[in-house]
Amino acid sequence: MQNLEKYPQLISVFQDIENIIGKDAYDMWLRPAEIDFAGNTLTIFLPNQFWGNTIRERYEHTIKDAFLKHLGADIELVYQIDVKTPTPTVTSAQDVLPVQPVQPAAPKINPFASRLNSSFTFENFIESPSNRFAYKAAQAASKKLGARENNPLVIYSSPGLGKTHLLHAIGNQILKDNPSAKVLYMSGEEFVSEFIDSLQNKVHDSFRKKCRTLDCFLMDDIQFVSGKEACLQEFFDTFNALFASGKQIVLSSDRTPQQLEWNERLSSRLLSGITAEIKRPNLETRIAILRQKRDSINFDIGDDVLAFIAEGVQTNVRELEGSLFRLVAYCSMHGVIPSIAIAREVLADILVSNDTFSINVNSIKKIVGKHFSIKMEDFNSKRKTQSVAWPRQIAMFLTTELTDLSLPEIGREFNRDHSTVVHARDTVKEKINTDPFFAAEINQIILDIKTVDNK
Ligand code: ADP
Ligand code: MG
Repeated sequence: MQNLEKYPQLISVFQDIENIIGKDAYDMWLRPAEIDFAGNTLTIFLPNQFWGNTIRERYEHTIKDAFLKHLGADIELVYQIDVKTPTPTVTSAQDVLPVQPVQPAAPKINPFASRLNSSFTFENFIESPSNRFAYKAAQAASKKLGARENNPLVIYSSPGLGKTHLLHAIGNQILKDNPSAKVLYMSGEEFVSEFIDSLQNKVHDSFRKKCRTLDCFLMDDIQFVSGKEACLQEFFDTFNALFASGKQIVLSSDRTPQQLEWNERLSSRLLSGITAEIKRPNLETRIAILRQKRDSINFDIGDDVLAFIAEGVQTNVRELEGSLFRLVAYCSMHGVIPSIAIAREVLADILVSNDTFSINVNSIKKIVGKHFSIKMEDFNSKRKTQSVAWPRQIAMFLTTELTDLSLPEIGREFNRDHSTVVHARDTVKEKINTDPFFAAEINQIILDIKTVDNK
């Protein structure tokens, strides 16, 4: 709810409602609305009647139950149409949904405030080739806390690909298995600001104690600690204390540990456990994610429309789900059924900006073919002569690098199975690493492909 801070007594009530109906449904239907609570009447201000009907049909009983459970109040629900209410507009997905997870209330059984958001779980994370390694490593870390082979676990990726989700999922899993475990989720920014506060307020010891007596420390976006010497030292000491006593450490970052440019000792420590990258999801995964989001908000939207969105939004999962929610918000507001035509109109700005990024297999084949003077059909033929096989391997390698197709999909594009693609990729990579002239040649080919594709 937009103005929940006006009613502190309702925070845990709505946290409970969010847990029951799920984060996606809550974000979609309830979070954008304002409320008024007086006597036993809860008034929800909404942009239109349709919105009110949706809440009444799907969530009214959950809302009433939660009020009864937490406050012992048998409330009356009133839906008021209010044009002034901040409503989801179609100008930006950010307007529809707050993208940051809410800071949740502390879990009830455990007095230790873990700061976990219970909506992010392993169960509602779609596993795919692009995140499988990170997903498995996260599960392993949550099951065998502090085990040498999973500690520390460092997950890195560009924004919006699921790092925060996985960190919370680890914490939630640990607490599910052991409700009294001491787990703390914190972002790099929070670490820095709480550390500075603790110095100013002379409560440094308790800050220190809080961080160093954990069973599992989940620190998100550690790149924010970079460049601040005292904080970095504090982080280093915390890390060492936990590590030395065999406690689990999970870190996320938007860059690799090497790119963080931290001192040698810390970097080598970070690399001593597991480092897992999450890559951009392929088309099949993007469709699977959209299906899951659709089901969780329980909105009628066809697979054809989902596939259309999935094809058009390739950047990251946050933008993908933002696009879906934006379309749903638009359709709810206007009382229309989602279609490809509407999606094209409502998401025009997002879809267009993605077009320039997509590189397709045919452009890769065309440019590699031109460079090595081989024909388009040679890429898919069974010919094994070196003059054809080598450019084919290069084209396969470039497809793994420049597109978000999965290995089996790439195999199909070249009329081969995925193990052939893996072999081609590794062979070409090896040559790039050992032969700088070849590396330069490949760079030139990549530039040519990008130029052709952007025309
Ligand atoms: P990051 O921390 O890498 O920027 P987040 O974890 O905040 O990304 O993910 C952005 C949004 O996308 C979240 O709502 C998250 O639940 C969702 N998300 C990301 N990856 C997946 C996935 N594989 N399956 C389901 N939801 C996902
Ligand atoms: Mg994040």
